[in-house]
Amino acid sequence: MPKILTGNQIRQEFIDFFKGKGHQFVPSSSLVPGGDQTLLFTNAGMVQFKDVFLGADKRNYTRAVNSQKCMRVAGKHNDLDDVGRDDLHHTFFEMLGNWSFGDYYKKEAIAWAWELLTEKWGVDKSRLWVTCFKDEKGQVETDQEAADNWKLQPGIIHDHIMFYGRKDNFWEMADTGPCGPCSEIHFDRGPEYCDKQEDPKHICGVNSDCHRYLELWNLVFIQYNRTSSTNLEPLPARHVDTGMGFERIVSVLQNVDSNYRTDLLFPLIEKVRELSRQSEKERDENFTPYRVVADHARAAAFLIADGVVPGNIGRNYICRMIIRRAARFGSKLGLTEPFLGKIAEIVIEQYGGAFPELEKNHKTIINNLTREEERFQTTVESGLSYLEDAVRALKKQGKSELDGKLAFDLYATHGLPLEITRDVLREKNLEVDQKGFFAAMEEHRINSGAGKEFGPMGGEDAEFFSILGESLRKEKKLDQHGVIYDPYNLSKTDSLIAGIVTDSDSVKEIIKGQEAGVILSKTGFYIESGGQVSDLGKLVSEDGKNIFEVIDVRKPAPGIIVHFGKVEQGKFSAGDPVLAEVDQKRRQDIMRNHTATHLLHAELRKVLGEHVRQAGSLVAPDRLRFDFTHPSALSQDELQQIEKEINEEILNNFALSMTQKKLSEALEEGAMALFGEKYGEDVRTISIGGENPFSYELCGGTHVSETAEIGTFIITSEGSAAAGIRRIEAITGRKAYELVSRRLNTLVEIKNLINTSLDEVVPSIDRLIHEKEELRKEISKFAATKAKTVYQAAKSNVRQIAGKTVLTLLLENSDQNTMRELADSFRQDFPSGTAVFANSDDSGNIQLISTVTDDLIKEGITAGAIIKKIASEIGGSGGGRPQLAQGGGTDLTRLKEIFENIGDYL
Ligand SMILES: [Zn+2]
Ligand SMILES: [Zn+2]
Repeated sequence: MPKILTGNQIRQEFIDFFKGKGHQFVPSSSLVPGGDQTLLFTNAGMVQFKDVFLGADKRNYTRAVNSQKCMRVAGKHNDLDDVGRDDLHHTFFEMLGNWSFGDYYKKEAIAWAWELLTEKWGVDKSRLWVTCFKDEKGQVETDQEAADNWKLQPGIIHDHIMFYGRKDNFWEMADTGPCGPCSEIHFDRGPEYCDKQEDPKHICGVNSDCHRYLELWNLVFIQYNRTSSTNLEPLPARHVDTGMGFERIVSVLQNVDSNYRTDLLFPLIEKVRELSRQSEKERDENFTPYRVVADHARAAAFLIADGVVPGNIGRNYICRMIIRRAARFGSKLGLTEPFLGKIAEIVIEQYGGAFPELEKNHKTIINNLTREEERFQTTVESGLSYLEDAVRALKKQGKSELDGKLAFDLYATHGLPLEITRDVLREKNLEVDQKGFFAAMEEHRINSGAGKEFGPMGGEDAEFFSILGESLRKEKKLDQHGVIYDPYNLSKTDSLIAGIVTDSDSVKEIIKGQEAGVILSKTGFYIESGGQVSDLGKLVSEDGKNIFEVIDVRKPAPGIIVHFGKVEQGKFSAGDPVLAEVDQKRRQDIMRNHTATHLLHAELRKVLGEHVRQAGSLVAPDRLRFDFTHPSALSQDELQQIEKEINEEILNNFALSMTQKKLSEALEEGAMALFGEKYGEDVRTISIGGENPFSYELCGGTHVSETAEIGTFIITSEGSAAAGIRRIEAITGRKAYELVSRRLNTLVEIKNLINTSLDEVVPSIDRLIHEKEELRKEISKFAATKAKTVYQAAKSNVRQIAGKTVLTLLLENSDQNTMRELADSFRQDFPSGTAVFANSDDSGNIQLISTVTDDLIKEGITAGAIIKKIASEIGGSGGGRPQLAQGGGTDLTRLKEIFENIGDYL
């Protein structure tokens, strides 16, 4: 009996075994696939090698071994429903693979797989089964070569070599492209594992969909290029792509009946049990929540380590959803306080050696998990009780499906992700209209003005361009690797027109006024990537008479670069020599902003801390925008410090150092790799600051050669871009000069207006404000005096109406206080009577105050009633106590009439 290996040892032994066979170890790429906007997460080992198979990328090795982080939650490979229900499925998992790029083929791949499993790891040969490809339609050749090679393996049972058709044993990347037969290795776990023994139709065996036969390892032999649904062409170079489910092989080698009982996941399960204070028996009787929490906590930790924080759309939504789903399953075990951080600690401990990004982002992982659990807790109870109400209503109506829009409202208002609503409903044998949910989400996103997160590549026809590229290469109009692209040295370069397209049709010639896409043999036009926008410029004929204005540059297919624009002058034909000229002034502005972005990134980490990570950036000619992870708004002091120090670094005139090196070497030296970027084997690095650079990044962008070229750096805004993500916008060079110049001009205008010197502007304005305040007080005093004078005159003029004293007085530009004083004076001066004061100001508003003495109130005359009546007639309203009331209106002519005939009103 060999000793039982740990999961970490098994991963290492796999890597070492293939290293011993001449393979290069390639670290796992990020869970966020670089460059592929159509893919939510890296979901297979081959994602980082896709371009190698397509011939668009070349590596300096032909054999590789890796363990790739994968995530499958949505789309074609939606495993989420199964996660928790059984012992095999995960959202996050690892895929072990060995790869041959035009190097070894079936013979070696099969022999080594057998050797590793049976000799190195001692797997019982009689329990292994293998499958090979045989086309049920008889159109593609049977993979007898694989079967023959299997027969050569020592100890293999020949009856265990089987043939299956297209569904199980033919692998394709897409509708067209590289493809080929595959050979699978299955492990027989024993008859007791069959979960379909009750099913009379079940014939237990390989590919019979029960749990007895475990698919362990898939060896894919890429030997064809599919050009149409019926046509396969043999590839000149044949490849091997293998994938072995890491958790599965560990469960086999550790001889446990569930992936969750391997030493990879069981420590997480036990931590959950410890926190929930359940017994082992209770745990085993109710294993589902344990599985969900362990799986989701591990997945969330890996996602956050790769820069995916909880949020509302796309990848961020998935991160939020799995944390909340784990929190809800945790609550079923009585875990009501945030607990996922404690589970993640074990993930980091367990996996940190193989995946150092976990340890590097330790704090960020724990903080994000805890914050998200806290956020969820504030809304979950009300959300679940709303859902209960909806369930009751459904049952009452005899329906079995919850409205999708309602499910979305539960998410938008109460934080319940669709998946949780679905879990709850399923527990009650109900469903939710998922299509309706996504439709409502989409509508909400459009209404809230947010753009689409994932879309096709700008609507371009990638297939058309890759076929065109293929034929241009064959005709030698393009280099064998496609268009020669060098934005660093070729900003003005002699080139040849390889092809011209209009509305996706190839044409030979374009004339003045025509819009088209031009493919050149080589170009220095930068193609938008890493946040830096594409170059603009023009293509000019040798004699300078023909001009094509370039307004966009894109790469619609590997090796193909298209300059989109319009013929401004003359005409162009395929084959013409042209001068490809990048707009240099604009390019320099962009370079200033790109280098400044690196300075800003470094400075933010220095001032705010190492938790700052780039979360998106835009490098344009007129500005730069930088999004980064940070929990709170930056203070004015922090912003000033950052701006000041960046300007000092600029003035120090550091030379930028650009090098090409191996990705692994650059990472080891501590170069910052940016989240969401795709890196090949060879990378370009930019460092600033000499021997001990303070900025060191992997970057394919274009940069100034010395920092002083940036000119001035000015931060123009700081704000929130999303939860936990801040955004800084800044300007440099010409834009910064323009801003400063404009502000100085404004200052000069102000100075001239108030007739002072520049240094005296602030005290002068201060003085003006003070003077204005004093004047206002004077005016108000003067108005009061004037009102009193008017009142004194009016007093001797009161009218007697039906034996009662009545005073009406219309003031101008007085105020409420003065009128109240006059009302008080009236009551003192006249023991019995009624007065109405009105004030009209320059803006046409009228204020009213009325007062009535107590004896008249007893007779039923009240100030409130008087004001109410008058105000309603002059287009306003009012009211108040019997003694004193106030109101307002706007119709001055009507007011004067009323005052004339005040008797009628009393
Ligand atoms: Zn079975
Ligand atoms: Zn950069």
